[in-house]
Amino acid sequence: MYNTKAYSAASATSPLTSDTIARRDPTEHDVQIEILFCGICHSDVHSVRNEWSGFMPSVYPIVPGHEIVGRVTKVGSAVTKYKPGDLAGVGCMVDSDRTCPNCQAGLEQFCPNMTLTYNFPDKHLGGVTYGGYSDSIVVEERFVLRVPENLDLAGVAPLLCAGITTYSPLRHWGVTEGKKVGVVGLGGLGHMGVKFAHALGAHVVVFTTSPDKKEDALRLGADEVVVSRNTDEMQKHAGSFDFILDTVSAKHDINAYIDLLRLDGNITLVGAPEKPLDVAAFSLIMARRSLSGSSIGGIPETQEMLDFCGKHNITADVEVIPIQQVNEAYERLLKSDVKYRFCIDMASLKSA
Ligand SMILES: [Zn+2]
Ligand SMILES: [Zn+2]
Repeated sequence: MYNTKAYSAASATSPLTSDTIARRDPTEHDVQIEILFCGICHSDVHSVRNEWSGFMPSVYPIVPGHEIVGRVTKVGSAVTKYKPGDLAGVGCMVDSDRTCPNCQAGLEQFCPNMTLTYNFPDKHLGGVTYGGYSDSIVVEERFVLRVPENLDLAGVAPLLCAGITTYSPLRHWGVTEGKKVGVVGLGGLGHMGVKFAHALGAHVVVFTTSPDKKEDALRLGADEVVVSRNTDEMQKHAGSFDFILDTVSAKHDINAYIDLLRLDGNITLVGAPEKPLDVAAFSLIMARRSLSGSSIGGIPETQEMLDFCGKHNITADVEVIPIQQVNEAYERLLKSDVKYRFCIDMASLKSA
């Protein structure tokens, strides 16, 4: 074991402050990474404040962060894919059972015995896993990702959660050149959905409640922007979409979007509204439409996404902050006052 600096919260109502945590010494299959940047995901705020206590109660102190990018500092004797000095990424998972059908299909995110990067039982040290708001992390090789050398690293970090969360459903539902794709909501997830759908060659329509986001949506790669409150504008697109990615986590009328799908069209939820959404069965029935959800992506697909980003020069739009501003960033995140993701420059932790 060795000690490393981190930022942790001591309770659901405490701010994040400087702390020291223990990490395991790398075993033969482990990769030790010096963390350079860590993105701030909305899940971090929910977890720190124990807002998901029903299904994922928080254990304190909690060290959040699952959008991790850094440089390899040490590898175990059996590690073959990484050497010290390599860039590396870690996302939402650090382990799984590797034996279940989902793991064997490369869908570790659906493994019943998957280990999340933070606030999850730690098989090595006991207690819970600690995330990326930290100087370094030790992760088994299988859950470490290669990061292309040509990308801005602060913009790479959010790809590990926001990126794969949007890339995976676009690929699953066959978004390719010529498909008409809608993206509902233009936040951390939505702005990545727009970039990926555009790079995959789709005709991209952004739905937003704020007309002032139009210019930005076009800059990010949208072909059209529809203000969702304008029913006439919505009506023009009725029955025309192959796929819609719904990134909104607030309560909203999903039927307005289901009606925009063509025959066999699909709408996938990646935002998680707190209360159940009302769905009009007839809208689904009459055009064999479907409604789905999607959760991050498996390790092979996360690697595919990072390679795709390297090739197409895609990163998240980030506001880089020192870790000392993390509590303020949480407040701004709750007001959607960020374009489009906060990313912590972990060099700032050295002076914390
Ligand atoms: Zn996340
Ligand atoms: Zn499994």
